[in-house]
Amino acid sequence: MWKKFRKFIDAILSILFPPRCSACEEVISYRQFQRYGFCEICYPQITPVRGRTCDLCGAPLRQGENGVLCSNCIRRKGNVHYVQGRALFEYSGPMKQAMYHFKTSHRTGVRKFFIKTIREDERLSGWIEKHHFEAVVPVPMFRDKVRRRGYNQAELMAQEISREFRIPLRTDLVCRVEDTKPMKELTEQERKNNLKNAFKNAKSSVKLNQILLIDDIFTTGGTMDEVSKALQEAGVKHVYFLVMCIGRSDKKRGMSYGCKDM
Ligand SMILES: [Zn+2]
Ligand SMILES: [Zn+2]
Repeated sequence: MWKKFRKFIDAILSILFPPRCSACEEVISYRQFQRYGFCEICYPQITPVRGRTCDLCGAPLRQGENGVLCSNCIRRKGNVHYVQGRALFEYSGPMKQAMYHFKTSHRTGVRKFFIKTIREDERLSGWIEKHHFEAVVPVPMFRDKVRRRGYNQAELMAQEISREFRIPLRTDLVCRVEDTKPMKELTEQERKNNLKNAFKNAKSSVKLNQILLIDDIFTTGGTMDEVSKALQEAGVKHVYFLVMCIGRSDKKRGMSYGCKDM
């Protein structure tokens, strides 16, 4: 009975608010949206993170990267405050557009596609389950920015993951105390300075062993590292992270797949 009612409601909603491709915004069928989140043209162009990945940040390893770490992590000499991370998709092609809509246009339906991907990918769901995380924590956004945009996309994702894996959501451990300049076009050193003091622990002595930090896009890892540091200051022992997209920066300036903080 409930199932039939849900189907009826879904049908009405899809007439009133037809689902659109998460990237190009073409109207697509409800079924296509539920299964793939993207239209038939965009979907084949998105790239899930598969195969050989960096043991630390989870980025796909490229030709010539024959060890267990990617060149970014080798450059940082493992000198980071997180233990390990995983990513769902490469930040490239239609996924860049989808992330832009996700963070700026209230087109947040793509989060359902992300959670479906996590659920169906044993590599990701198994990784989450085996760590027995005690909390899911979104990378915080500056308060005024949340007010302006109406939501923090990392928090929306963290809510979904918290529900799916029954892990408590904690948004009270760390906060963003400074708005940062757009990271685009900044050198690595400028990025570091830009993020310095941007995050603060909002609690102390929380005594959590392992937590899962959630963000939408990972590029150089600077944001993730600063938040992890603040979380450790709050009393968290081990910080792991999960991001929806991962981009790579191999040069001192500029991203290979694009850049966060548009
Ligand atoms: Zn499309
Ligand atoms: Zn790496």
